Amino acid sequence: MSVRVRFAPSPTGLLHVGALRTVVFNDLFAKRHQGTLILRIEDTDRTRYNPESEAEFIETLKWVGIEFHEGPHVGGDFGPYRQSERKEAGIYTPFVEELLAKGAAYEAFETPEELEQMREFQRINKMPTGYFGGDWRDATPEQVAAAKAEGKPCVIRLKIPRNTAIVGEDVVRGKLEWDSNTVDDPVIIKADGMPTYHFAAMVDDHLMQITHVFRGEEWISSYPKHIALFDAFGWDKPVFVHCPVIVGNDGKKLSKRHGATRVLDYKYDGFLPDALKNFVALIGWNPGDDREIMAPDELASAFHLEGIQASPGKFDMEKLKWMNGVGIRSLDRDSLISTVSELVKDPEILSYYAGKEPEDPAPKISADEYHRAISTLASALDNDSAFAEQCVVLEQERVQTLADFGPATEFFLVEELSYDEKAVEKWFGEPHVRKLLDDLAGFVSGKSEVSVEECEGFVKGWAAENGFDKIGPVVHPTRVALSGKTSGPGLFDLMSCLGPDRIAKRIARAKELLR
Ligand code: GLU
Repeated sequence: MSVRVRFAPSPTGLLHVGALRTVVFNDLFAKRHQGTLILRIEDTDRTRYNPESEAEFIETLKWVGIEFHEGPHVGGDFGPYRQSERKEAGIYTPFVEELLAKGAAYEAFETPEELEQMREFQRINKMPTGYFGGDWRDATPEQVAAAKAEGKPCVIRLKIPRNTAIVGEDVVRGKLEWDSNTVDDPVIIKADGMPTYHFAAMVDDHLMQITHVFRGEEWISSYPKHIALFDAFGWDKPVFVHCPVIVGNDGKKLSKRHGATRVLDYKYDGFLPDALKNFVALIGWNPGDDREIMAPDELASAFHLEGIQASPGKFDMEKLKWMNGVGIRSLDRDSLISTVSELVKDPEILSYYAGKEPEDPAPKISADEYHRAISTLASALDNDSAFAEQCVVLEQERVQTLADFGPATEFFLVEELSYDEKAVEKWFGEPHVRKLLDDLAGFVSGKSEVSVEECEGFVKGWAAENGFDKIGPVVHPTRVALSGKTSGPGLFDLMSCLGPDRIAKRIARAKELLR
């Protein structure tokens, strides 16, 4: 039987990292088994429905590079792929009728107030809360007919078998067992006629021939209901894989504080889709050895279910940044330039940084600084591309994200440098610096370009001629004069990249700061 897996989000909001992990596991598993990956939109809860959500999921997953074989946006033989449309098409009706006819489901007519009173009673008496039968589980056909005649609204509930054990298998945890008397009778059809998640998802998993269900472990408590539903129909169950919860690095519930945001934000924060997928795949799964950096194909071929752990998976933002940096360094020059250009020229990126909420703790580089530097880099890539591209290449070794190329290259690209005050304080009072800058101006004068070797020759030669055993006292003030900073790419590369004209201008300006 060929593998068929589904990612089945409810369109209630943005796509977060937990859902991304679920889709990545589905995708890797499908790839490993040459299976089919399906997108199914579980939109039967109209109270939580968000009309923008589906488009957000599709856009995000497209950016991440997850390709669905079937889904509302690509079609397929098992459609429609939105549950609201499946409901409209009457797909669920015969299944509800089948359960009612078998006595495996029943109509229940309590009002919301009555249900609340029942729960209150259960709470006061320290009983399990939920609907374990009420007045309707064993109501006679006459009682049901009378309630209907009165026009009372009703829901349809699944009749969970009583006084028995409900047993299920989970790939991660093995055999799971529940006392069926602790499992309440779930609503399968709501008063508005809409199927609930429990019902629609399981019926669809059956109809869509889903072989493996990957979902978060928060669904384990619903699992006995799902088992009971499959059993009521007498259907074979898919294999269930409940994936571990994701926590922050401190072991606490994942939140924005840990860097976990809307997945699409990672795009504008400058993460590479492959690095993000690699990172997410390793939250709660490992390949059985200590490999961490893994290419997409390598991940797919290594993706064994045995590697999924039951204990919480950690979301470590620093690790994501590290993996992303490794990914950036692995790009060849052309892909680097095209990837950086595409991001910094993305029509959305500036509004992303303009609208970014202040973070706590405040990041080293503020959203305003990114905004300014990214727009500087974007225009330089348009107007002075050879120079801007060379700046990007020189910073490739030093950044963690694509967005970092903005701040990292800014000092190359601006007309007016801003100087690190401490560095100016430290170096610009040294007696040799005026002569150094004058000689450097002389060295570049009349040239149209200077090679890295020439720059190295100048710095080393100047140090020797002026009695310095080490080149530090030459390198540091030169770097401050040309870049305003104390760190950056190698000085000779930086000088060659800036070229004679910019060097001359920067020397003139630095000389004004000498004491
Ligand atoms: N619609 C459910 C959700 O968004 C999916 C649960 C499942 O995969 O079965 O969480």
